[in-house]
This record gives sequence, structure tokens and C-alpha cells, in this order.
Amino acid sequence: ERTIEVRGLTKRYRSTLAVDRLGFAVRPGAVTGFLGPNGAGKSTTMRMILGLDTPDAGQARIGGRRYRELRRPLREVGALLEAKAFHPGRSAVAHLRALAAGNDIPRSRVDEVLGLVGLTEAAHRRAGRFSLGMAQRLGVATALLGDPGVLVMDEPVNGLDPEGIRWLRTLLRSLAAEGRTVFVSSHLISEMALTADRLVVIGAGRLVADTSVAELSASY
Ligand code: ADP
Ligand code: ADP
Repeated sequence: ERTIEVRGLTKRYRSTLAVDRLGFAVRPGAVTGFLGPNGAGKSTTMRMILGLDTPDAGQARIGGRRYRELRRPLREVGALLEAKAFHPGRSAVAHLRALAAGNDIPRSRVDEVLGLVGLTEAAHRRAGRFSLGMAQRLGVATALLGDPGVLVMDEPVNGLDPEGIRWLRTLLRSLAAEGRTVFVSSHLISEMALTADRLVVIGAGRLVADTSVAELSASY
């Protein structure tokens, strides 16, 4: 129910084959890193998993359903996309309350996630005055708001300072230890080696490796 399955996934932008017959599964209870250089097709793949882009061929399913078929998407899947923009004049708490109200999530959950991401003090500050790292933390808060069993995060480390990176690593590992499915992209192998249990590696839209980090380390 919490497994992400990608099969034959393909997406072309004019002359660019962004994603090329990609297939893999992301299972619960582990952090799965989605590793590849810039332009490898990570964002395009994640956008298709989240129903924000339509594949030219193949499919992506979450617990056997397409994202658009999920009954309560925010409760089932938490997403953090790259370059997520917040309304500059609106506070962190206002963003989260609006999202909670539209998705039948109790208001008390807003304070809870603000605490989880370390934004309790800044809850009423306008998002336009947030640093990159704070904006990224607010993005993580929106992903966690519905207490979802599946998390899909595109380059969540972007904008975080070293302390923020360590915080995120601990958070992702504890979410996975609770039995959630955690799928997180990065172009940094050093970061993924510390954070992930499994790695799905892509290059030029194609699968390069699908392996456990322990196995990979043992072969060196
Ligand atoms: P990554 O997330 O790994 O950096 P992307 O999925 O963003 O990779 O991009 C994969 C390829 O698809 C790149 O060559 C990129 O330039 C191209 N691409 C992505 N989105 C678009 C788009 N909206 N229009 C045209 N080309 C795109
Ligand atoms: P706004 O006016 O603040 O943009 P929206 O109605 O667009 O309000 O709110 C939808 C927000 O929820 C968007 O910012 C989108 O990125 C985010 N979102 C959509 N799906 C998910 C998800 N599964 N998990 C977390 N956030 C999501």
C-alpha cells in the first residue's frame, strides 16, 4: 500500500529524452535515495509519480494507484518539489492552515509540524523574509502536514546549512524507521551515502543501478 512502483516510465521534451523506460520500486521502512547528476531526469520522474506530468509511456503508481486516483492525496503522499514558492506576504502558519483546511487535516497538526521542522519561533513571520533554509523547512512541513505514509522529496537538502542537513538526515531516517516510504533525490553521492538505505541511480533518464547502500559499500 505504501510502495511506489515505476514501470517503463518515459518522458520526452522535444528532442530530449528526459526519462527513458525507467523501472524501479521504492518500498516502505527505508530511505531510498534517487541519485543522479543534474539533468538526469530525477525531477521529471518525481513529477510523474506525483501526477504533475504525464508520461509518454509507462506508469508510476503508489500503492497500486495513480497519484490522481488517491482519495486523500495529502494524507497519503507528502511532496516537496524543487523551487517550491510560497506567498511572500503570508506567514508559515497561514500557509499550513490553508493547506490543512482544504484537506480536512486538524489545525493542531499545524503547530505539531512547525515544531518538527524547527519553525515554531518563526511561525508568524512572512515567508518573503525567510532564508532559503527556512523556506526549505517550510516545504518539509507542508510535506509532513497530512502525516503521510509516503514521502517524495526533490533535492530537500538545497538551501540547508550543515546543521540543517544533519537535522533533515535524522528526520528522514526516523520517518523511514516508523515504516514510511521515503524517496529523496540528490545529486550528491556523499550525502546519499549517509542518508539512504537504498539507492536508485539514474543517468540520462536511464536506470544505472538499484542497490542497497550496504551492498555498494561492501563492494569497495
Ligand atoms: P534532474 O532533476 O535530474 O536535474 P530533470 O528531470 O529536471 O533532471 O531534467 C531532465 C531533462 O529534461 C533535462 O535535460 C532537462 O533539461 C529536461 N527538461 C526537464 N523539464 C523540462 C521542460 N519542462 N521542458 C523541456 N525540457 C525539460
Ligand atoms: P497556494 O495558494 O498556497 O499555492 P494551493 O491551493 O496551490 O495554495 O495549495 C496547494 C499546495 O499544496 C501547493 O503548494 C502544492 O505544492 C502543495 N501540495 C500539493 N500536493 C501535495 C502533497 N502531496 N504533499 C504536500 N504538499 C502538496
